[in-house]
Amino acid sequence: MENKWPKMQFKWPDNKRIAIMMSFDLDAETLWYQRSNIDDYKDHITNVSRGTYGPQTGVPRILNMLDTHDIKATFYVPGWCAEQHPETIKEMIRRGHEIGAHGYEHEEGGGRTLEEEEEIINKGKEALKRVVNVVPKGHRGPGGVVYEYSTEMFLKAGFIYSSNYRDSDGPFFHRVNGKDVPLVELPKDSLYDDGFYMCTFSDPLRQSMKSPLEAIDMMKDEFDGLAEEGGRMMTFVFHPQLSGHPGRCKALSEFIGYMKANGAWFARSCDVAQYLIDQHGPFEPVEWQYYKD
Ligand SMILES: [Zn+2]
Repeated sequence: MENKWPKMQFKWPDNKRIAIMMSFDLDAETLWYQRSNIDDYKDHITNVSRGTYGPQTGVPRILNMLDTHDIKATFYVPGWCAEQHPETIKEMIRRGHEIGAHGYEHEEGGGRTLEEEEEIINKGKEALKRVVNVVPKGHRGPGGVVYEYSTEMFLKAGFIYSSNYRDSDGPFFHRVNGKDVPLVELPKDSLYDDGFYMCTFSDPLRQSMKSPLEAIDMMKDEFDGLAEEGGRMMTFVFHPQLSGHPGRCKALSEFIGYMKANGAWFARSCDVAQYLIDQHGPFEPVEWQYYKD
């Protein structure tokens, strides 16, 4: 995948110092099914019910918390989760939040061909359309996995952004054969991912559980640094089954208040991507490598 627009610092609306995207991955039960190669969660009903906590208990608390700040967020929802928890997704939409694509059954891992990956993306999109009448504008790969062919595949799928890379503090435009294409990357990082602070997987990277304040403190340090530089962005990765617990949700609420008071522009991922596309101006036609028509 070619990147990137070298101009990494952007001027945000209202002279805000930094763009902040509150995004939540509603992996629900799939997070535990997909990790059955690490521990045998698949046949462990109560372990899998940790995932159910997200749509059933965490999301209502998070939605109320976001309302108190009048902030709209992005929820990445695997198609299967929309089928299992349609009322939860409908309530997100009713309150003005964005629904982004996140696979069908949260298919992690790698090594898939373009055709295999395309089938998963289409299946996820079809489920979102059928269950909640949403056509997603952006994609976050389960586990953040993308491929060399993904730029072209995302454009074909009608996405205007991807939120997968970890190599930049600012957004950038993906490129095909040396030319910018209207696909914005909104990078993320494990530093801004609650899964790395608050989960109990036996994966060695994730074996410790931090207090909400410890986790937020580390994210806050990053926020302070980036806000000081100016023109940067942060895309948070929260999971309602983790950050939907009361202590964590309260800490997150306080953190939002802090960022609001210190120059943050809060927006949904689709709004930030559209803002950047509007600023870019016309895109030249490109010669595709993986699709011939
Ligand atoms: Zn996920």
